[in-house]
Amino acid sequence: FLSIRDLRKAFGSFVAVHDVTIDIPRGQFLTFLGPSGSGKSTTLYAIAGFQHPTSGDVLFKGRSLLSVPSHKRNIGMVFQRYTLFQHLTVAENVAFPLRVRRRPDAEVKRKVAEMLSLVRLESFGDRHPGALSGGQQQRVALARALAYDPPILLMDEPLSALDKKLREEIQAEIRRIHRETGVTILYVTHDQDEALHLSDRIALFRDGRIEQIGTGEDLYVRPQSEFVASFIGNSN
Ligand code: ATP
Ligand code: MG
Repeated sequence: FLSIRDLRKAFGSFVAVHDVTIDIPRGQFLTFLGPSGSGKSTTLYAIAGFQHPTSGDVLFKGRSLLSVPSHKRNIGMVFQRYTLFQHLTVAENVAFPLRVRRRPDAEVKRKVAEMLSLVRLESFGDRHPGALSGGQQQRVALARALAYDPPILLMDEPLSALDKKLREEIQAEIRRIHRETGVTILYVTHDQDEALHLSDRIALFRDGRIEQIGTGEDLYVRPQSEFVASFIGNSN
């Protein structure tokens, strides 16, 4: 479905991502886990089209995405910091990707209502983002990313700015949305509990390479190195 082939990204002489290859089946929830600076975001940005890889390819249904501009890749995105349009209402934020795609008004209205209900913010449509809590803003970002039914959703530490309770609440929300929509998710975090909790599969990054990829159970019960064991928290 989504295929990352020998992806390499160098900044000058520094190689941030070393020939990473991953095949992601449709509907899978795959998490990139790993310490700061291990290449998680760089890999995600190459998939999103924010950065052109030095070599390698990103294929969607067998076709290369590299020549497709970022906004035409049909990939939804949610990032760590709230990236909502502050001057637009919540409903207008969610409608934005549909307006850009020139969808008819009736469809936009229906879809906005559907998305706000999906993230349980039905009564917040007329507010501005500034009048929402951090967690509510992240849920609006999620609703906006999903509004045009992208087949793929990328999330880069979407919950790291939130407190524990909100994080757990939105984690549950993300899991439910994944289950209900069947969207393929690539999720970045450096929090192993979050990764174990959310993912079908985890790719553990170390120094720009994938140290081990497998289910949470694989990594936890059958770590292939000391690094995996200590990172996953089963080093005893
Ligand atoms: P974090 O958990 O801190 O977000 P990460 O795993 O997402 O880390 P990346 O952002 O992918 O890490 O960065 C990987 C490496 O590439 C880091 O050493 C970083 O300093 C380097 N890097 C990233 N972007 C650039 C850039 N534009 N120019 C030079 N080096 C960069
Ligand atoms: Mg990062």
